[in-house]
Amino acid sequence: MVKVNATCIGCGACVVVCPASFEMGSDGKAHAKESSDCAEAAKNVCPVNAIEL
Ligand code: SF4
Repeated sequence: MVKVNATCIGCGACVVVCPASFEMGSDGKAHAKESSDCAEAAKNVCPVNAIEL
């Protein structure tokens, strides 16, 4: 399961690294979609550790 927690600052990096699992919401923050092979790479690139796998 993929989750973005409330610390997300909306930088967009996770969406660039892994669009299969993340998308930007109308609130300007990332939202999780479904698990995928690139989700861990997105977790590693997040500057505020907002991604939980
Ligand atoms: S990389 Fe982290 S801070 Fe940036 S949009 Fe994704 S979840 Fe938010």
